[in-house]
Amino acid sequence: MLNQPLIHRALWLSIILSLFTFLIKPVFAIELSLSGDYTQGGLIIGKTDEGNTVTFNGQQLQMSAKGDFIFGFGRDDKLEHVLEITNSDKKSVKHMINIAKRDYKIQRIEGVAKKYVSPPPEVLSRIKQDNIQIANARAVRSDRLDFLSPMLKPVKGPISGVYGSQRYFNGEPKRPHYGLDIAAKTGTPVAAPLAGKVTLAHADMYYSGGTIIIDHGLGLTSTYIHLSAVDVMENQEIKQGQVIGKVGATGRVTGPHLDWRFNWLDKRLDPALLMN
Ligand SMILES: [Zn+2]
Repeated sequence: MLNQPLIHRALWLSIILSLFTFLIKPVFAIELSLSGDYTQGGLIIGKTDEGNTVTFNGQQLQMSAKGDFIFGFGRDDKLEHVLEITNSDKKSVKHMINIAKRDYKIQRIEGVAKKYVSPPPEVLSRIKQDNIQIANARAVRSDRLDFLSPMLKPVKGPISGVYGSQRYFNGEPKRPHYGLDIAAKTGTPVAAPLAGKVTLAHADMYYSGGTIIIDHGLGLTSTYIHLSAVDVMENQEIKQGQVIGKVGATGRVTGPHLDWRFNWLDKRLDPALLMN
């Protein structure tokens, strides 16, 4: 009996305190971390609580079991994007994401064989077939997380072509260049910059010659073209640093180099940004 007023006071105090914390704290909190380059050609690696869902411009993203996700920006993507995170209570938070616009170089290449500037009709079905195989190899959505490791450079050598440049072959405007070109002698070993699984290994595609595509998880793939040797097979598991092929001058080239590319699904990313 004697203690009753004290209990009342404690009860009231706890009610007032919880009301107060309710008012000063957000109603709920959603864990979110993002890292990467907020620019055209950039890749963002994100993490949120397990079980949350994430949409990027309204498109639902693939999530790892531990809440990892990725998204990227194409060469000419718009500059405003929306990321929405929803937790298991169906509460969601929207983040506006603004990215930087880039200026791209103009690259004029002379001395390209005529058959690569205007392909003859008899090779059109082969080119179409190559494109289907490449698109399929980049559409793989595995739950690998190889991209969480820092990346290695696949070949040592000077950069001879950058991402995004508008190209003219023998004066004719062509599609932009999406790779990072590293000049090296034919036969130089190419090392996998990340672990992964081979989704395409082709000795001779029309434009890209010896071609390898590796899946690194959640829709991120890397591509190696103009190779003189393809030393891996499709579905093969690759360790980081493992030799996958050799530099060459196969397909539409004017000299030996490695053309190295990254995709997040069908969006083309800049390998130079991913190296940072
Ligand atoms: Zn190239």
